[in-house]
Order: sequence, then C-alpha cells, then structure tokens
Amino acid sequence: MKINSLKVRKINKFINRLSKELEEQMREIQISNSNYNSEDMCIAGTPLYLHLNSYMNENVFPAMGLAKYAKSSAEKMFFCNYLCILLYSFIELYAQCLNVYYHLDLIPIHKAVDRSVISGGGIVEQTKQGLFDISGRVVSIESVIKELSKKYQTNEYFEIIKNILEMDEIRRLKELRNNQLHYQPVFGRFNQSYILGNDGFFTINISPNNADIDKKEYFEFVSLSERIINEEIKLIYYFVEMIIDKKMLLKEEKERKLCVVKCMKCKRDLLLPEEIISYMKVLEVLPVFPHNNECNGKVNLDIIRKVNVHPEKYCSIAFDAIRRTIGEDC
Ligand SMILES: [Zn+2]
Repeated sequence: MKINSLKVRKINKFINRLSKELEEQMREIQISNSNYNSEDMCIAGTPLYLHLNSYMNENVFPAMGLAKYAKSSAEKMFFCNYLCILLYSFIELYAQCLNVYYHLDLIPIHKAVDRSVISGGGIVEQTKQGLFDISGRVVSIESVIKELSKKYQTNEYFEIIKNILEMDEIRRLKELRNNQLHYQPVFGRFNQSYILGNDGFFTINISPNNADIDKKEYFEFVSLSERIINEEIKLIYYFVEMIIDKKMLLKEEKERKLCVVKCMKCKRDLLLPEEIISYMKVLEVLPVFPHNNECNGKVNLDIIRKVNVHPEKYCSIAFDAIRRTIGEDC
C-alpha cells in the first residue's frame, strides 16, 4: 500500500483535539480535589496514570486520526484494523494498572519461565525467554474486576468504571478485536461468512469484497471508535479519581478522619490530622505548607469540617505534616 494521500494537517488537528480533551478532563480532577496539601502528594499511582495517558496520546489518538481521515480504501482498511487492536489493548492495559494499584497479584503475562523473567528487560526480551506456561491467574479485565469486587469495598468510582466496561460499545469492541485476531480482519479484501444449508450443516463461504471499503461498515466503525475513545478517557478519569480522591478500602479496612483547615495566604483548603492541629495549638506555632508553586502560606488552625479519607491518604498527609512541622523525615 502506497501512502501518499494523508491529510496531515487535518489529522494533526484532530489528534491535538483529542489530547486536549484528555488534558481538560484531567484538569477537572485537580479542581474537584483542590483540598490537597500538595499536588504531588499521596499520588502513588501517578506512573500508572501517565502510562495510560501516553498510550492514548501516542497510539490510540494517532490511529483514530489516521483511520478517520485516510483517503483511499486501502489506507482506511489498514488504519481501522490497527485501531481496533489498539482500542481493546487499552482495556487490557487498564486491567494491568488496576492489578498493580490494588496489589491483586494476578500475573501480568500469559507465559514465562517464572515470575523473575517478568522483571527483566523489555517485552521483546521477556517474550524470547518466556515461552512456557506460568501457573496462577492471569490479568484480564474480567479477572481484575472479579478480584477487586471480592477483596475491596466498592465506591462510586469503581461502580462507574464497571458500568463503562459493561457498556454495549465496549462489549462490541471486545468481540471485534477477537474477530480481528482469530477470524478475519475487520476490513479486508475477502469476507468470510457461515451459511446454514438446507441439510442443517454450516458451510464456510469466503468471497472477495469490492476493492472499495464498504462505506456503511466504515462509518459505523469510525463512529463506534470515537464513542469508545470517549469512554476510555472517562476510564482514565475515574482511575485517577480513585488514586487522588478515593481509593477503595479493603473489606476489613476503615476510613480515617482528617480536618479541613485553610491556608491564610491563598485561602485554599488543606487537610491535617487533628492530633497535629492540637499539638500546634499547644506550641502556639503555625505550620507553613508550600502546597503549590506559588504559595508558601501559614495555616489557620481553625477546623472548618472533618472529612473521611483512605488510611493511606491519612498516613501520607500525617507524615508530611510531621515532616513539615517538626522537620523530621518519617
Ligand atoms: Zn496557600
């Protein structure tokens, strides 16, 4: 296939629009959770979120742009087939990130000599060494959701994530991807179908397609892909909400309380443990929290309200507060 007819400017504009949408969606999180003491705190899952973000920006968005704006039928077929794989691979990658973030201990790859192989080298090298079955349960979106439901108390973010994954669009995508891998390309020069004969037996019919892509199928696929990208952006959004706002609790875990106080300089809400506040009041000193690039303000110790947070978030904020007020590393 000779590619010489791509509408580069249009494609780049489209990719930039998708990247901007993703970026804006993520900005909403920072606004909705601005009661954080510092923007880089308590966010142990950041590399996972960046992993998902870069996969969308570097793989899915360009493939979507190319599939949507390709001119010739051959190009449309090629990019749509490629896009189909990438769109579902995102779901697989999402499952991997949940597995890591929630320490589910499902095995990330299907084959390896043993788990130690997984730790070394890139996946080309890992694959070369790992052509053996590995025992244990392997990561899939289904196994991850099942395991999370079994071990963790659900929350609103997890419920939304499950709803998105159960949407008709995502289920259709999975089938399309399976068909693409095991049956035939989504778009190709030949079409395979099963026909039930009068004798009750199925016959396989393989017939050549027109050289031109089937327009109806093509538009349907492009529109489905765009809707899926929207949902995948939401999946990242709610994953990040779980990271920075509300991580799910283990079945036996309980939330802990933090106090909301205000920065005297920028009036932003900050979180502090009550014990630290009492301690500061006895000492009659005001802690200083450089909670963003601009502000290095003192904290007003009047408690505005109390909020329940995940124990990990409580510990992280408590350690940070101790470090800042006493100057000790915990
Ligand atoms: Zn401030």
